[in-house]
Amino acid sequence: MGIKQIVLLGALAFCFGGCGSSEKAEPAKTECVCETAKAENGWCESCGVGYVGGEKMECKACVDKNMETAGAGKCEACAAK
Ligand SMILES: [Zn+2]
Ligand SMILES: [Zn+2]
Repeated sequence: MGIKQIVLLGALAFCFGGCGSSEKAEPAKTECVCETAKAENGWCESCGVGYVGGEKMECKACVDKNMETAGAGKCEACAAK
């Protein structure tokens, strides 16, 4: 094996290692916004909970509905339960 082959192998190994790790994108983590949600009414994607008027809600549609209609209760799916 000549020096050229060794250099080439090294370059390949480096590329595989380097390229491989750089291509592995971490799944985007949603930031917890519970504090803001509690204060301003909203949904925390990270925790899967929302707050309307300080009340904790575990249905995003309900939170959306409450925000749209200023506290009109449940979303259609929950109201039908
Ligand atoms: Zn949260
Ligand atoms: Zn609901």
